[in-house]
Amino acid sequence: MRVRFFGVRGSCPTPGPSTVRYGGNSVCVEVRLADDTRIVLDGGTGIRELGNTLAREQYRDAIHMFITHPHWDHIMGLPFFAPFYQASSRIVMHPTTAVAAQHTRTPTLFDGVHFPVRFADLPAKLELVAECGEHRIGSARVTSIELNHPGGATGFRIDDDDGTSLCYLTDNELEPPGDLVTTRDALARFAHGTSLLIHDAQYLPSDLPLKHGWGHSLVDQVLALGRDAEARAVALHHHDPDRDDDALDAIAAHALGWTRAHAAALRPIVASEGLELDLARR
Ligand SMILES: [Zn+2]
Ligand SMILES: [Zn+2]
Repeated sequence: MRVRFFGVRGSCPTPGPSTVRYGGNSVCVEVRLADDTRIVLDGGTGIRELGNTLAREQYRDAIHMFITHPHWDHIMGLPFFAPFYQASSRIVMHPTTAVAAQHTRTPTLFDGVHFPVRFADLPAKLELVAECGEHRIGSARVTSIELNHPGGATGFRIDDDDGTSLCYLTDNELEPPGDLVTTRDALARFAHGTSLLIHDAQYLPSDLPLKHGWGHSLVDQVLALGRDAEARAVALHHHDPDRDDDALDAIAAHALGWTRAHAAALRPIVASEGLELDLARR
């Protein structure tokens, strides 16, 4: 399995000279399975470049799309995804929960008000999967878990037949102030032994207490989850819009120090736009 990051920013895109190295597009990750099937995780502004890349690569098979939740930063790039406008494209939209299925049936973005093109007028062949739960896609099995986030969000685990696996958990607050939807232990079990855990790590201690309850996790909480899940690598993702490249460099240095002290087997990564990882490679 290969993973490519097309957007790593949370909440709001942040173009500009201070974010060129890590990137300013909001969240979008592409997964290329062992049998070359493509899975898209989230449709933030990064999905525009992903669509152009798929066109350049002349990818012709089905594109499987999983959206964690309908907050703007995860869907705002969808109207600019080139495959939607090609009659030869086949796009399979996978809802994973009853709430997600409801949002897929009423795609607000393409209602003729928020964007001029209506969902029914998109040229691509669109398949809406109605059932929630486990999905078999190409050479992989996809499972889901509910996350702790205002309005709800769904996390995914992709286990490929080549033995590699990916957990995509965003947006998620590992220690929320109110009721827990899923405990930290359950998330560690869900992610156990994964090749790569991609997790929302938007906050630093200086962001609290103001943003406690806003649905995101602290960098150190995410590193500890990666350690306890015995993940091989953890990618800090969904960066705060106020974090410039220098601030993310500092987080990378901190994460390296943290893993050396507390989890020597865990490889810390600060997700950046354009980063490509081959999960079969150690
Ligand atoms: Zn978000
Ligand atoms: Zn969100």
